[in-house]
Amino acid sequence: MSYVGPDFEPPQPRRSRRGPLTVALAALVPGALLGWLVYETVGGSGDGGGSGEAAVRSSPPAASSAPSDDAKEPSAEPTPSDAPSTSAPAASGPLKGKVVVIDPGHNPSNFQHPTEINRKVNIGMNWKECDTTGTSTNDGYTEAKFTLDVAHRLRTLLEEQGATVKLTQDDDRPYGPCVDERARIGNAAKADAVVSIHADGSGAGNRGFHVILPGAVHGGAADTRAIVAPSRDLGERVAGRFVAVTGSAPANYIGDGSGLVTRKDLGGLNLSTVPKVFIECGNMRDSKDAALLTSGAWRQKAAQGISEGITSFLRA
Ligand SMILES: [Zn+2]
Repeated sequence: MSYVGPDFEPPQPRRSRRGPLTVALAALVPGALLGWLVYETVGGSGDGGGSGEAAVRSSPPAASSAPSDDAKEPSAEPTPSDAPSTSAPAASGPLKGKVVVIDPGHNPSNFQHPTEINRKVNIGMNWKECDTTGTSTNDGYTEAKFTLDVAHRLRTLLEEQGATVKLTQDDDRPYGPCVDERARIGNAAKADAVVSIHADGSGAGNRGFHVILPGAVHGGAADTRAIVAPSRDLGERVAGRFVAVTGSAPANYIGDGSGLVTRKDLGGLNLSTVPKVFIECGNMRDSKDAALLTSGAWRQKAAQGISEGITSFLRA
């Protein structure tokens, strides 16, 4: 989520700036958000605002299966406790030799370790809490559970492409890791790409996804200057494919409709020395977005979109 704790500072709501600006800004991102432009055209969303209704219209309805499919749906993955955090080397595939680190935001057990996760860690130029609990839907589906599920699906898809995949956590530790360690895991793996998976906790009516890109930060242990450009490339590709596969619109409350937000306050980005982005897949506190986020079928699409964005970046 974007709104509490070390992950995120309070946003500046910009809902009034939707409309024509959405298309204008999307057009400023050549190629990467082509899927969004196509979506806008095909979806026939005349106001250019990418309203929530438009997003629903272009994707299969998920509401019928949303409330309970978590419990019913067969998992696409082995149970997390049985799964190693690092995949076996793939024999072949277009991503053979590539290392991808997936960072599932938060940790399902952070709730039970407030002292540990509130401990301040150095994120370069300042200090922030080790980690946060994350948000949840109004019905109690936690962001931490969501991020792990998407991470598992994403791992499977990337491994099928031949990538070596490592998770920063797999519900295999009592809390965390802290945001500084999350960054170090990607650095130590010499990852070719890192994607941190999240879902937001904004107000009802705020809908859609956004990808968070590192801004240029140089000070203390932080120096993102070398990763700003490749991270933007990665983020634009992930956003473009996420739109195309899920049919979800870029956030209507942040990012001016572009689905992209640059930030300099996130330790997980500031301490990274390898290309890295966050994705906020939707808003857990909006009932329509929650219906998507709680659907296993939709999470598979989310993972597919992210996977295609990563693959596109790594093969460029
Ligand atoms: Zn989060």
